[in-house]
Amino acid sequence: MSDRLASYKEIAAMIERGDRHEAKEHILKLREAWFELRDENQSLKQEIQNLQAKKDVASSLKFDGSLYWLYEDDLAGDAVKSAGPFCQRCWDVDSNLVRLQGRSHGRDIWTCLGCEKVTYGQGYVPRDPNVRRTTR
Ligand SMILES: [Zn+2]
Repeated sequence: MSDRLASYKEIAAMIERGDRHEAKEHILKLREAWFELRDENQSLKQEIQNLQAKKDVASSLKFDGSLYWLYEDDLAGDAVKSAGPFCQRCWDVDSNLVRLQGRSHGRDIWTCLGCEKVTYGQGYVPRDPNVRRTTR
């Protein structure tokens, strides 16, 4: 028996000429192939769903030059920041939306817990190295 799947017409012909055992073998092969195709179909559907979700996220994501932010339309239809900031590296390289953790108390310095990259936001102002604290 070959590995090729028999057609319905071929299986009907096997039954017609009394080759029931051969017909049964082909029907079982078809059934097995059907299960494999069903599983593959399910995983492809899941992959399409994931890609659609990623595409939806990408269309709502804006890069401000340092950080990514999610936007959504408010009631007036204007795009407003809804979440973020998110790591540029993790989104651009891995398509992972990783929320950044703020540090240095509002100085617009952010750390990614995914890739450990430190990002300086657009509002970052470096400390003036000429200003020193006095110890008196
Ligand atoms: Zn990251």
